[in-house]
Formats: sequence, C-alpha cells, structure tokens
Amino acid sequence: MLKTINPATGTEMKEIEEVSLSSTARIYQQAEQAQKDWQGKSVSERLAYFQSLRLLMASKLDQLSTIIHADTGKPKAEALATDIMPVIDYIQHIEKTAEASLNRQSQSTPVLFWGKKSYIEYMARGTVLIISPWNYPLQLSLIPVLSALAGGNAVVLKPSEVTPLTGRLIELLFKESRFPDQIVQVAQGGKELGEALIKEKPDYIFFTGSVKTGKIIQEQAARDLIPTTLELGGKDPMIVFEDANLERAAKAAVWGAFTNSGQVCMSTERVYVQRSVYQTFVRKVQELTMNLKQGTSIHDDLGSMTFPKQIQIVKEQVEDALNKGAVLAAGDAPENWDNDSMFIKPMVLLNVNQEMDIMKEETFGPVMPIMPFDREEEAIELANGTSYGLNASVWSGDMEKAERVVASLVTGNAAINDVMLTVMNPNLPFGGAKNSGIGRYHGEQGLRIFCHEKSVMTDSGKRNTEIQWFPYKGKYKPFKTLFQTMFGRNKNWKAAGQAYREIMKASK
Ligand code: ADP
Repeated sequence: MLKTINPATGTEMKEIEEVSLSSTARIYQQAEQAQKDWQGKSVSERLAYFQSLRLLMASKLDQLSTIIHADTGKPKAEALATDIMPVIDYIQHIEKTAEASLNRQSQSTPVLFWGKKSYIEYMARGTVLIISPWNYPLQLSLIPVLSALAGGNAVVLKPSEVTPLTGRLIELLFKESRFPDQIVQVAQGGKELGEALIKEKPDYIFFTGSVKTGKIIQEQAARDLIPTTLELGGKDPMIVFEDANLERAAKAAVWGAFTNSGQVCMSTERVYVQRSVYQTFVRKVQELTMNLKQGTSIHDDLGSMTFPKQIQIVKEQVEDALNKGAVLAAGDAPENWDNDSMFIKPMVLLNVNQEMDIMKEETFGPVMPIMPFDREEEAIELANGTSYGLNASVWSGDMEKAERVVASLVTGNAAINDVMLTVMNPNLPFGGAKNSGIGRYHGEQGLRIFCHEKSVMTDSGKRNTEIQWFPYKGKYKPFKTLFQTMFGRNKNWKAAGQAYREIMKASK
C-alpha cells in the first residue's frame, strides 16, 4: 500500500494499492492484447477518444486541482495553470496536428532514381513504459502517455510513489472517457516496480526524473537495446543585462525561482546580473520575495515542498553555501527551519560563487542565488559552466544581443525576456543538453518518437533492371562520367544523359 499524505497539511488520505512485482508479465500481456485493436484504428479514430478526455478534464477542473494540491502541496491556482492547463492544451494540439504528423509523408526522390516514389510511414512501437516524477505529476505523466497513444501504442505508466493520488486520478480519467480497457495501465509502486517493469523489455522507455536514476535506467535499457527518452534535471541560468526591464526581470526571477517551491526542472536556479544594476535588481527581488504568501488557500503564492527527502537536499546546499561565505538576503537559515513543517520560506542568496553546490547542482527548492557579472562573454561562460543544459533566460532591451547570447548557450530551451516559457508551447520540441537528458518530446517529434519511422521507396516494377545492379562490366567509366557531370564543378546534363544510356546498355 502507498500512503498518501497531504504534504501541506499533514493530513493522511486514502491508501493506494501497489502493483505486485510478480504481476509485471501479466501487465505487458494485457497491453499487447489491447494494442492490437488500438493500432488497427486510424489516427482520426483514436483522436475521438482524446476529445472525450479533453472535455472531461475541462469539466472537472476543481476536482483535478484539489487532488493535485492534496498530492503535492502546491497551490490550487498553480496546479490549474501549470499542471492541468498544459495537458488540456496539449490534447487539443494533438487533435489538431496528429494526423499531419503521423500519417504517411511523401518525400521527393533524387533524379538518379527517376520514376520511383518515396514515403515515410509511422508504425506504433508496441508497448511504451512511462516512468514519471512527483513535481508535475499530471503533466509529466499525461503528455508522454497521450503522445504514445496517438501513435497507436499501449502504455504502462508508473507514476511516482510520492504522488499516487494523481496516478489514481489518471487511471479514472481514462476509464471515464472510455478509452479501450488496458490501453493505458497505471502501475503504482516504487523504484523496485520501475526496475521490474524495465526487465520485461518494453518497446520504448520514456523517463522523467533525476540524472542519477536516468543513468541507471539508460544502463538497463542499453542491455536490451530499448530506445529511450530521458528528461532529467536542470540548473537553469538567468542572465540579466543592464539594459533589461528590471521591474519585469525581478518579477520573473521571483516566479521562475519560486513557483512550485522551486521543484521544477526548468526553474530559475541561478541568476547572473550585470554589475551596474546588481544592487537595484537585488533590492527589487528582496522586496518581492518578502511579500510572497505561503499557505494552502487559493490566494497563496507558495505551497509546501512535496517530498521530505528534497528538503534535506535543499538544506545541505544552502548550508554549504552559507559555510562558504554566502549571505541570506531573504528567507531563513536552515537552523531556523521548522523540522515538522513541509514549508520552506523562499530564500535569496548573495555573495555566491561557481564553486558552491548551490551554483552547480540542481537544488529543486525555493532558493535564488544571485551573482554579478561584468561582460557578455563572462555571463555566457558562467551560464554554460555546469553539467546541465535544460533551460535558460536572457534579459535585455537589445534583442540582437539577447539572441546572440542565446545562440552561445548549451541548452535545450531558452527564453528572451521571459522565463520557463517554451515547455508551454506544444509546437516546440522539449528536452535537454548535456546531463539534462537525451531526446526531445512535444512538437512533431514528440509524437514520432513513439513510432518506428519506416522509409519506403516504390518502383512500378515494369523495367527489368536497374543501373546499379549486376553486371558491372562496362559500367565503371560511364558511372564516373555520370557522377562527375551531375555532382562536379562543370555540370553537363547532356553528357550525364549519354553516360546514363551507356550504363543502361551495359545493364541489358
Ligand atoms: P526522486 O528521487 O526525486 O523521486 P527519481 O528520478 O528517483 O526522483 O524518480 C522518478 C521516477 O523514477 C519515480 O517514478 C521513481 O519511482 C522511478 N524510479 C526510481 N528509481 C528507479 C529505477 N532504478 N528504475 C526504474 N524506475 C525508478
């Protein structure tokens, strides 16, 4: 049984039944059965189910936000705007784009293969295993689940054991919107269950979570050559130049660092501010941070932390920084934290440097370290100076400069004069560079990764032979002429045609 406790209130809620480790083979057999029919449906037939799910979700926003709040401790407004809305929007996006992305794509054929036709076809891989985390338990489960379903796959979803209520909610949503039985199976359990599900050799693994677990999963998948997408952590930099709108930048930094109590892979984890505006920026951020409201009502800005283990990580990083000379400009030092509460006051840290864990390792908590810089090149070097590369933001009134800086950042995502934005646009591929992950989802490829991409060329079958087939006798010289006159400096279509006819003659 998985215990469910509202982290914000400490209230114990119903227990959720775990799937036994011995039932994993049966889960995949059921998935395989269900997938046969599902794959047989056209993309547009599948999309009818998607529409039912979207309408159902849009009619139950209160219930959804209440459950997510109870499971994670995040404010209901945040659950609504950043976990539920992106899913509904994504369903609508799939409804609009899946046919164009997944139906057969005609391609042009090189002139050398004159008379032939080429196309790409997308075929379901089979059963996709999706392992998801606790910070956005709805979005980070449902978006990959729905993307895999659109392509004709069956899905086994293992939600995080930290947020099982949302896992149960997902199961009920699929049931109520009348998706075929077993096409999505929600397997509740811990990491042992995740391991056992991987051992059954799913046809694809989509994982969102920590770098440490991502590496373990990639190793296991490599043994059986199971393709994967890994969506891992981030240490996202924000670069604020002196010509930026500081009012807006300070507000964005506070939201970017503290939304979901900083438990966001794309959150603003470190801020670099040009020295001439550093003091002004810090003052603005300090004031905004002190005015944030923490609690459980619908008017509060910050909820609680979700996972007790995460509080320990935040604590260690903040202690390390303070021991090395950092200064708290807002929030409490860890020795003053209430050990019985899951709430941590948002912190602003100054006097930090790149050697501190708080500037190198993912914190996943409500901490904003701020550091001054002088030159553009220095800011780029600092921003690129970690092992992560998920997201970044650049702030300047000079768009040319902002775009130049973005072009130099090793990152999967970036925003100019905004934070975290790209993940909310379903047309844009999402994923990380370096330790932040492998692969992309969302956008066209977000649907195609769950399919075998099959390249096909066709010939009418009327000609008896092809120029590259045996025999080779008498072909070497005209081949050379053909390729030189087609691809070389002095193109000569007449000579190419003559060489082609010579090869055809030698082919008879
Ligand atoms: P966290 O420790 O913050 O929960 P993880 O990356 O460990 O982050 O967990 C993300 C998801 O991965 C969860 O659903 C968890 O149960 C699952 N998980 C953890 N370890 C493994 C593993 N070795 N194999 C498969 N799944 C795992």
